[in-house]
Amino acid sequence: MSLFEEAGKKFEEAKRTFVDGKEAEYVCRSCEKPVSENYEYCPHCGEETVEPVA
Ligand SMILES: [Zn+2]
Repeated sequence: MSLFEEAGKKFEEAKRTFVDGKEAEYVCRSCEKPVSENYEYCPHCGEETVEPVA
């Protein structure tokens, strides 16, 4: 991998949020952690604040 490609990859990672290697589609409004599914209760803090990423 060239230095340029590596820098571009890091930029992509920085502007996206991933959960278990996948792009997170949901986030908890309470603790602001990304989650991979639309959980009824946040697996991190237990609050009912999981919402789709805008
Ligand atoms: Zn939470």
